[in-house]
Amino acid sequence: MQNRYSIRTLSDLLVITTSLIFVGCSAGNNAGSMSESDILSFHQQILTIDTHVDTPLRLKYEGIDLSQHHDPHEYHSKLDFPRMDEGGLDAVFFAIWTPQGARTDSGHSAIKQQALDILDIVEAEIGKLSQYAEIVTHSQDASRLQTLGKHAIYLGLENGYPIGTDINNLELFYKRGIRYITLCHMTNNEICDSSNDTTEYGGLSPFGLKVIKRMNQLGMMVDISHSSEATVEQAVASSRAPVIASHSCSKAMCDNPRNLSDSLLTLIAAKGGVVQMCLLSDYITPDPPQEGRDSAQAVLKQKWKDIDRQTDTNREAYRLELSELNRNFPRVLPSVADAVDHIDHMVKLIGIDHVGIGTDFDGGAALSDCFDVSELPNITLELFKRGYSKSDIRKIWSGNLLRVFSKVEHLAATL
Ligand SMILES: [Zn+2]
Repeated sequence: MQNRYSIRTLSDLLVITTSLIFVGCSAGNNAGSMSESDILSFHQQILTIDTHVDTPLRLKYEGIDLSQHHDPHEYHSKLDFPRMDEGGLDAVFFAIWTPQGARTDSGHSAIKQQALDILDIVEAEIGKLSQYAEIVTHSQDASRLQTLGKHAIYLGLENGYPIGTDINNLELFYKRGIRYITLCHMTNNEICDSSNDTTEYGGLSPFGLKVIKRMNQLGMMVDISHSSEATVEQAVASSRAPVIASHSCSKAMCDNPRNLSDSLLTLIAAKGGVVQMCLLSDYITPDPPQEGRDSAQAVLKQKWKDIDRQTDTNREAYRLELSELNRNFPRVLPSVADAVDHIDHMVKLIGIDHVGIGTDFDGGAALSDCFDVSELPNITLELFKRGYSKSDIRKIWSGNLLRVFSKVEHLAATL
């Protein structure tokens, strides 16, 4: 009988070499056999998507040039293309966030115009920088652009307030590239109750039910971040497609009204959806008591009551005062390890197929060791340290979200 390890021909040699490489790869699937530089290069190779950044606000108010590298401590900007490259971040969803004013016809049409104006600003900025990035709309565009060495910019509408009471506005925003809508922000709107407001409808309004039906038909993801518990339950039940939470953490790990309880996490996963963990410090760990900071916060809170309903000028003034407060009395920030505790909890509860990352950078997110997008590889290092496999980490960084996104697209094609 011929020795099966004897090398007779060049093709035999290739077969044996290939199998050795294969064995090497699968043995190196976990952190134990990988050096830090191996993990960092793995992070750079995989497709990474952050489903929630508020960078359009930086474009609108500060005219940030995304082709330039900024110091986040000096400019408060957490994302530009050089830092996306450093942090191995391939794709993002730019949140087109709008504040909330009067729930009247004139209030709705003014805010709709404001959302369209922000879309104009984003289109103009990315249009000028087409060598770095493109605005995209399809689930497969992120990997297509990754192979071209460009960043994919998807668009989401954070707050359904600009939809007002006109269902036709959904198609208008879909045509402008919006691929998810966060049903509400910190206050109730015509669609639903918010997690941070009083109970008005007890979940979705009758109009909200129509909005979800139309979003399913168009192929827009339903984003339940910021929604009240009843809204989440009803959105999951009424949507024919899985839903997403574009930037939400676990309530069991940090008791904040914005976070998702274990029962909501379980519901979202049972429908095939995905929860994208957020890096906003107050959602990761409670703000620890701090002399000086606490009293300054109380003064600011007293001065700017109900900030979500203030005028644009007042909100900008508040934002500047808040930045000043944070400079004078910096919050003790949570760490990547604290944030990954949320991922651990969610993965244990609902499984590896239902968790992702939506940072909320430029919307207030910051960790001590992940202060801007350039430090995102620290999350991957922590995940490896805790025993997550390469396949798990690929799912967290993009696979799970893209599964839901493409399901939403396919369903729309049948409705
Ligand atoms: Zn938000």
